[in-house]
Amino acid sequence: MTAIAEGLTLEETALAELAAGLRGPLVGRDDPGYDAARKIWNGSIDRRPALIARCAGVADVISTVKWSRTHGVPTTIRSGGHSFPGLSVADDSLMIDLSLLKGVRIDPQQRTARVQAGVLLGELDKETQAFGLAAPSGIVTHTGVAGLTLGGGIGWIQRKHGLSIDKLRRVDVVTADGEFLTASADENPELFWGMRGAGSNLGIVTEFEFELVPVGPTILAGPIFWKMEDSPEVLRFWREWIADAPDDLMSIVIHRKAPPLPFVPDELHGQPVVMVIPCWIGDLDEGEKFIKPMREFGNVVADVCIRKPYLMHQSMFDPSFVPHRWYYFRGFDAPELTDEMIDITVDYASRIKSPLTSFPIWQMGGAISRVGVDDSVFGGRDAGITYNIGCCTENAEGFDEERQWVRDFWSAVERYQTSAYVNFMSDGEESEARIRSAYGADKYDRLKALKRQWDPDNFFRSNQNISPD
Ligand SMILES: Cc1cc2nc3c(=O)[nH]c(=O)nc-3n(C[C@H](O)[C@H](O)[C@H](O)COP(=O)(O)OP(=O)(O)OC[C@H]3O[C@@H](n4cnc5c(N)ncnc54)[C@H](O)[C@@H]3O)c2cc1C
Repeated sequence: MTAIAEGLTLEETALAELAAGLRGPLVGRDDPGYDAARKIWNGSIDRRPALIARCAGVADVISTVKWSRTHGVPTTIRSGGHSFPGLSVADDSLMIDLSLLKGVRIDPQQRTARVQAGVLLGELDKETQAFGLAAPSGIVTHTGVAGLTLGGGIGWIQRKHGLSIDKLRRVDVVTADGEFLTASADENPELFWGMRGAGSNLGIVTEFEFELVPVGPTILAGPIFWKMEDSPEVLRFWREWIADAPDDLMSIVIHRKAPPLPFVPDELHGQPVVMVIPCWIGDLDEGEKFIKPMREFGNVVADVCIRKPYLMHQSMFDPSFVPHRWYYFRGFDAPELTDEMIDITVDYASRIKSPLTSFPIWQMGGAISRVGVDDSVFGGRDAGITYNIGCCTENAEGFDEERQWVRDFWSAVERYQTSAYVNFMSDGEESEARIRSAYGADKYDRLKALKRQWDPDNFFRSNQNISPD
């Protein structure tokens, strides 16, 4: 027997069996590349898996799942590695790493994309935009398509085209028994329902098929800045401005200390600001007209809302979410931004310490709200806004204080929440009751039945977990 890690002792033959079943590399603690393979986006998560199976194809996923089940090894699944609370990596466990699966195939005639599990958002956008198309996705290019889609997928084109799951047509899945199957509206439809919002609980998706929509290539987008002291008025005006906005508009509000980026005027660097970031994907002249009142409101200190390539806008937030810095997030949905919420938001925003902390308030609604509440698991169809209260520091220095600011802010606004987006949840602090409320009680019970059918032993448990019990 060989001790691989604490609490994990295996026969030498078992390890040889695992390696023999893999086309991709099996990486252990003493192997070169171990640290690079175990690291995830959030630098505050420093976990040491015992083994990392870097899958080269579906066959590797099947054989690794079967091996893991036979030997009772705790297992995590990693695609883009961007889970805020680090759910894709655990100490002393086996990581099934899908990040080498990079295939993307666009069918421009049918307007579909087949996307393997390791593909990142920027890689997908690059392929789809070659044909003037896009799949709804998120706002930072190095996020994984897999985890984002399986939780819902919110982003810049959501109000016109819906969530990532709203354009999902099919998934290839390896189940907890190591079986391979397809789920779609026609095949395994109940599993497909659960995959669209709670997918990480039900199986390992190896390939996604999305319907694509025409977008860009030029859109009208970018931040408009005010000093943070103007935030109460800016938030109230934004609330009125978005109330009857066309679906071509999506917007996000950010409070932060202005970063020293080339598009931010020098005199604002380090100053507390509030930004409204419109993203208009319809007719550009109409967009200019619609955005005019917002950009003329109050004392705008900088305005870089311009006509630009969709691809450029998709990467706008990349410098704000650099990998391996220390991060912490907690999110929630609310029907609307009330005066009380504005007061609390302004109070907490003014207390941000770290120059790297920024928190988005997302405009929801539009196409998302026109999909039936029960058509997928996703729980936030009725949300008017989504908060993702987050903090960031360069490293451990100042992190505890900044994280406490997130927790206090979140507690202060908790009473306004009506649902929550599972991909914006934390770990350890999210109770079963909160996960239940994220989906709604009826859907949660239906999910439990699915979990009992497809994963009765809770093999897939490193996620916002739905226990089969
Ligand atoms: C910088 C940043 C920006 C973000 N922006 C957005 C955004 O704009 N919109 C949005 O909706 N979300 C956003 N998110 C949240 C994001 O959707 C989640 O963190 C998501 O889980 C990331 O997916 P991943 O594949 O990168 O993560 P991973 O850490 O690899 O996985 C996350 C979870 O999904 C499970 N999982 C991963 N791959 C598979 C698979 N193939 N099959 C089954 N389960 C799997 C894992 O077990 C884990 O529980 C952002 C996150 C970050 C860090």
